[in-house]
Amino acid sequence: MKFCSNCGAPVALKIPPGDTLPRHVCDACHTIHYQNPRMVVGCIPEWEDRILLCRRAIEPRHGLWTVPAGYMENGETTFQGALRETLEEANARVEIDSIYALYNIPHINQVYILFRARLLDLDFRPGAETLEVKLMKEAEIPWEQIAFASVRNTLTRYYEDRKKGEYRFHMGPIEQAPRKT
Ligand SMILES: [Zn+2]
Repeated sequence: MKFCSNCGAPVALKIPPGDTLPRHVCDACHTIHYQNPRMVVGCIPEWEDRILLCRRAIEPRHGLWTVPAGYMENGETTFQGALRETLEEANARVEIDSIYALYNIPHINQVYILFRARLLDLDFRPGAETLEVKLMKEAEIPWEQIAFASVRNTLTRYYEDRKKGEYRFHMGPIEQAPRKT
């Protein structure tokens, strides 16, 4: 940040009195511009033994696959955000089942919350930010073409849980994707 979004004057990075971290502070209007992690909300839409994945039409990770998810908006709940993202990206209607994963990704200042959700009908099609929407069985999941480590981790846990017959709640810092050799 270079300029104050309140008055347009240049901002300086400094630790405000009583604070512990440097912030962008405006010397003209004295606004302190706090920057905090962003919430990404989404779901795993389920239909019998298949799940709905979207192939991204936007950067980052254009052309790769993910579950419907995106940045939460002000004024909505995490549930509403997950429903909205699923509608926007896949034109799919779901009913939220349960919270499935909470991943902290501090190096990019994001928190992921993913739900399991029940797909309500098969009338889905790609949204503006999606190239392709597909229901996939486990054997069809394109593991080498999953867009984000958070999603790859979640789907790995998901299929482990399915084999055990019990879906657990998963949380923690995100694990890095294994390097290709
Ligand atoms: Zn200002």
